[in-house]
Amino acid sequence: MNKKSVKDVVVKGQRCLVRVDFNVPMKDGVITDETRINGALPTIKYLVDNGAKVILCSHMGKPHNILTEGFGLTKKEKKAVEALPESEQAAAKAEYLKKALKDKEKFTLRPVAEKLSEKLGIPVKFATDVVGASADEAVASIKDGEVVLLENTRFMAGEEKRDEALCKKLASYCDIYVNDAFGTAHRSHATTAAIAEYGFVKTAVCGFLIEKELSVMADSLENPVRPFVAVLGGAKVADKLKVISNLLEKCDTLIIGGGMAYTFLKAKGYEVGTSLVDDEKIEYCKEMMQKAQDLGKNLYLPVDATIVDSFPNPIDAEIPYSVCGIDAIPADKMALDIGPATQALYTDAVKSAKTVIWNGPMGVFENPIFAKGTMAVAKALAETEATTIIGGGDSAAAVTQLGYADKMTHISTGGGASLELFEGKKLPGIECLNDKD
Ligand code: ADP
Ligand code: MG
Repeated sequence: MNKKSVKDVVVKGQRCLVRVDFNVPMKDGVITDETRINGALPTIKYLVDNGAKVILCSHMGKPHNILTEGFGLTKKEKKAVEALPESEQAAAKAEYLKKALKDKEKFTLRPVAEKLSEKLGIPVKFATDVVGASADEAVASIKDGEVVLLENTRFMAGEEKRDEALCKKLASYCDIYVNDAFGTAHRSHATTAAIAEYGFVKTAVCGFLIEKELSVMADSLENPVRPFVAVLGGAKVADKLKVISNLLEKCDTLIIGGGMAYTFLKAKGYEVGTSLVDDEKIEYCKEMMQKAQDLGKNLYLPVDATIVDSFPNPIDAEIPYSVCGIDAIPADKMALDIGPATQALYTDAVKSAKTVIWNGPMGVFENPIFAKGTMAVAKALAETEATTIIGGGDSAAAVTQLGYADKMTHISTGGGASLELFEGKKLPGIECLNDKD
């Protein structure tokens, strides 16, 4: 990695504004998964232990922006209210306001401050705003080795809009900007990139989570130990166009499963019945198959499938199914998983690799009947000595759910960010940081 980390700068006595990813799932004010908090701990502990003044910030969820708008309505809502007859305006305004206040309760980071305090074993002061009086006071009184958490940055409309005034104000809180939020590194928002891009903070470095994500994923993509096998699945071809194209260039073998396989199979002339197909992407699939051939890369597609009459409703309903060869899918059936012959083929390919990256389940894994393909691939990855990297999102959830999490070299904490890395894109949250000397 050519970017500076917290270890490359003197942090003692310095006010460090640390952008973390505390976008944790919550139910009724209780945190239901602490993975992201745990992911940020090494950097926070390092800064505390080394006498920094630690000011944390993060977004959570998609709240209504309530702190900037005087009476709690967005500009769009204000317009909607103004468009109403005068007699109805007050009631409409009250409705919107109710929603805004509910969001404030629902998306507050206060429970995270409490959980973090527990984990660190020291008090974590919570500021009830992002750049208001509460944050001002907390930052002004912070001492070396202390920790403050600011309120949800998305309570400010300026966060997603890269507002300069917001960036400037946040920059005034710190001497060093630290980005450790890999999950939002592909976003270009005020606290994820703009604050450093605008030059308001001169020292901008990464934390250990970003350093680890990048060193494992970017290095494996650029300098893989070969053979390098990439396994791609998930719902639609359209979601992963650039990923397919970029990975074909980097890997030795590209394995395709999941819903996206059927567009490829249709492009090859197979009957795929009522399976998920992106009709507009058939030409693209043909191009990719040609590209694989031109580059001398292996491209694996399913050779058999688990088929049903129609999509299960609810998704995990127990429904009748059968298995058939890929050249025998009836016109009125739908393929929801790779079959046993494909599982064996993909397992062998994974076992021959020295580096494997995986993104996207092989079937509708939410239903145990159609999770077998995903399980087989997960097991192959768990059992191999190769470097194994899971690119976040549903695949990470599947691996964790199947109990293989600790068998993988690396499970990315950022689905969207890891996909953009796999696309070969530069991430704004990383580009904005200081280069190593
Ligand atoms: P990831 O989050 O790992 O990138 P995606 O979001 O692209 O993965 O895709 C996951 C979704 O794809 C799952 O909800 C799964 O049910 C769906 N899926 C997988 N295989 C099929 C299939 N054959 N038909 C329809 N949907 C599928
Ligand atoms: Mg997904």
